[in-house]
Amino acid sequence: MALKLFNTLTRSVQEFTPLDPAGKKAGMYCCGPTVYDFAHIGNWRTFVFADLVRRTLEFSGYEVRHVMNITDVEDKIIRRVRENKSTLREFTGKYEAAFLDDLKTLGCREPHQKPRATEYIAEIIALIEKLVARGIAYQANDGSVYFSITKYQGCGCHYGQLLKLNLDEMRTGERVASDEYEKESVADFALWKARVPDDGDVFWPSPFGDGRPGWHIECSAMSIKALGESFDLHLGGEDLKFPHHEDEIAQSEGATGKPFVKFWLHGAHLLVEGKKMSKSLGNFFTLRDLLAKGFTGREVRYLLLTAHYRETFNFTLDGLSGAKSALARIDECLGKLREIAGENSTPNNESLPLNDNSHLKLFAYALHDDLNISAAWGVVFDWVRETNKRLAENSLSVGEAVSALAAWEKMNSVLGLGNANIIIFASANFVGGSNLTANPTVVSVPEEIRLLADERAAVKKAKDFQRADAIREELKAKGWVIEDTPKGVKLKKI
Ligand SMILES: [Zn+2]
Repeated sequence: MALKLFNTLTRSVQEFTPLDPAGKKAGMYCCGPTVYDFAHIGNWRTFVFADLVRRTLEFSGYEVRHVMNITDVEDKIIRRVRENKSTLREFTGKYEAAFLDDLKTLGCREPHQKPRATEYIAEIIALIEKLVARGIAYQANDGSVYFSITKYQGCGCHYGQLLKLNLDEMRTGERVASDEYEKESVADFALWKARVPDDGDVFWPSPFGDGRPGWHIECSAMSIKALGESFDLHLGGEDLKFPHHEDEIAQSEGATGKPFVKFWLHGAHLLVEGKKMSKSLGNFFTLRDLLAKGFTGREVRYLLLTAHYRETFNFTLDGLSGAKSALARIDECLGKLREIAGENSTPNNESLPLNDNSHLKLFAYALHDDLNISAAWGVVFDWVRETNKRLAENSLSVGEAVSALAAWEKMNSVLGLGNANIIIFASANFVGGSNLTANPTVVSVPEEIRLLADERAAVKKAKDFQRADAIREELKAKGWVIEDTPKGVKLKKI
């Protein structure tokens, strides 16, 4: 079954075909973070969604070029730089580094290119000059350059491709200088903002005078430079449909005269504990807040991936605890399979007793149906159940375990859950992979021990080695030896 995705441009689920005549390469641009603060969990939903799209494309055999910009100059950033009496680079650099760290913690594949807006000023100016030359942009009395919606439409172009807009209500000559505005205020928007005292040191020279780019033109310039004037996929949160994405289409198509993007994909909003996230309600979480509560990036990722990307999702702390147990079920099953497989790694293709192939097919089928993630999880947990049944019967051969692990690796290439930090070798006689018998005695690891091992991994990451050593001793007192191996942590019952 071919991959189908909901395209906001056509408001329908369509079969994905890339522009590449060979049907192999796919260019994907995702609007990246505005680096003025730590990204919150609502932002992360969008980036995990983008990662799912990329991984699904790669799972389906496409060679993806994933570009995510870093917005390091816009209205909010300049305000914060002023308030913090900082320099632009110093201020944005801190949040950019934090963002990329968090992206890793959530198991997202790193984009192939991460252009910073401030490094594309020449491309931005060139794009604005093109629009001015085509009569679609003009310099107003305030010195700023604006995009003229009327002139754009006069060229036979359509403004309002992603969202129905009531353009009749638009008052001629009205302009909007700020980057963010509501659809009720549709108006000519700023491409280049003339320097004002509040901008401080943040300005660049240009043929239109000193100033700085508007937010929307930044993404047009960076995406065109990275992926070409027309490319396959553009992603973002649904709040970006208007004005950001609509303006991106207008600027790009206005300048090049070519269709900008084939597929527009938008992720839905996130509620936290049933309400819109807000600091005053106490339901505003950055990823770091959740890690401080003892949850892991893997658990947050799992929970974010349980809902379909076009549905509003209610993120709760209870849900995160549920994620912990769901992952523990998967990890336990994998731990037992690894114990049987030992050091063997060549899948036994002749015997696939767990119907791994059909599970994989169903898994792919679910994802290809506009990323039907609930159905995909359904397949994963069916697979876990069936595997556990065979494990309980003690009837899995080494080859079968290896095949099952290979099937999991394929599914996990999309889910991106990585591997648990803990490899559980619970067999009392365990001394090394080669000494394992095909059916070792499987001893389950008590929850208390597992949690201590988890905590040790977390404190080690935070470089609290004293606490890590204390946990090792505590485990020993409870009858378990913990060791670090190149594959992860090994637990052994004394
Ligand atoms: Zn953007």
